[in-house]
Amino acid sequence: MTATGRPENGTVIALCGGIGGAKLAFGLSKVITDERLIVAVNTGDDFKHLGLHISPDVDTVTYTLAGIANPETGWGRADETWNFMDSLKAIGGETWFQLGDRDLALHVERTRRLRAGDSLSAITTDVRARLGITACVLPMSDDPVRTHVETDNGSMPFQNYFVERKCKPELRSIRFEGAQNAHVQHDIARALGDPDLRCVIICPSNPYLSIDPMLAVGEMRQLLTGTTAPVIAISPLVDGKAVKGPMSKIMRELGIEARHAAIAGHYDGLIDGFVVDSADEKIPDHVATAVENTLMATLEDKVRLARTALAFADEISTGQDVPGVRCA
Ligand code: GDP
Repeated sequence: MTATGRPENGTVIALCGGIGGAKLAFGLSKVITDERLIVAVNTGDDFKHLGLHISPDVDTVTYTLAGIANPETGWGRADETWNFMDSLKAIGGETWFQLGDRDLALHVERTRRLRAGDSLSAITTDVRARLGITACVLPMSDDPVRTHVETDNGSMPFQNYFVERKCKPELRSIRFEGAQNAHVQHDIARALGDPDLRCVIICPSNPYLSIDPMLAVGEMRQLLTGTTAPVIAISPLVDGKAVKGPMSKIMRELGIEARHAAIAGHYDGLIDGFVVDSADEKIPDHVATAVENTLMATLEDKVRLARTALAFADEISTGQDVPGVRCA
C-alpha cells in the first residue's frame, strides 16, 4: 500500500455478509449518502427454495439500508405477516425456511426476472433504487457460488446446515462451489481497479461463511491485493465472542482460537488495518490496529464505527494521524 493522499470523495467498497455486515453498511450509508458507497454482498448463502431464488444476505442488506428490516430477527422485513407460511404448513408444505408475506414479493419478482434473463445485479440495483437506497448494493458475483459444509453428519448445502439443522452438526470444512469459475460483479471489479478508490472495508461479518465466499471468487483476491487503496477489516468478535450467529462455535470446531489475532491472521496479506473492540485487551501486533466500540446496538454506534473505519483508512492512506482514532 502506498501513501497517495487519496481524495476523500473516492469510492468506498464494503465487503458484507448479512446481519453483522448490514449494520456497518447502514452506518456507512449515513456517512456516504450517494453511489460512492458500494456494498458488495455475499451470495454464497443463496439457494433455491420452493422454486424461488433466495438471496438471504443481499436481502438483509437491502432491507436494512431501506430501513424496513425486522429489528428483532435482523433478517426479513418489519411489520411482517405469515399467512403464506401458515397456509403452506396447513397443506403439508416445507416450512423450515421462513418466508414472510411481504418478503415473498421480492423472491417471486427476482425469480421471474432471473428466468427472463436479467442478472442478479441488475435486479438488485432496480430493487434498491425502488426502495430509495442511494448506495450501490451489489451481489459479489452474477455467477452462482454456493457454500457447502462438511459436517460430522455428512456434506450439506449451507441453508440446510444453517437454518434447517440450526448449525447443530459439527463443522469439518467449508467449500464454495462455483467460486473458481465465477467473476467478480463487473461494477465491483471496476471500482476495485479504480486508482481513485478511497478504501475497502471488510465488515464485521463472519470471515468463514460471509467473507470467504467472496475471497474465493476468481479474481477477487488479486483485485484486493492489487489495489493501492487501503483495505481494512472490522473484527466480528466483541469480548472474545461472536455478537450473533455461529462464528464462535465454528471457530472452535475448526480448531481456531476465538481471538482478534486469528481473524486478522485470516486476512493476512489482504488488509492494511484492523479495527477491534475497546472491550478487548489483546490486539494483534502484526497489523496497524484501531480501537473502537464495535458493538453496534444503536444508530449512533453504527455511524461512529463507520466514521472511525473511514478515518482509519484515510490515516493509513495519507500517513497522517486522524484525531479520535486510537491506533496501536
Ligand atoms: P450473517 O450472514 O447473517 O451471518 O451475517 P454476517 O456474517 O454479516 O454477520 C455475522 C457476524 O456479525 C457474527 O460473527 C457477529 O459476531 C458479527 N456481528 C453482529 N453484530 C455485530 C456488532 O454489533 N459488532 C461487531 N463487531 N460484530 C457484530
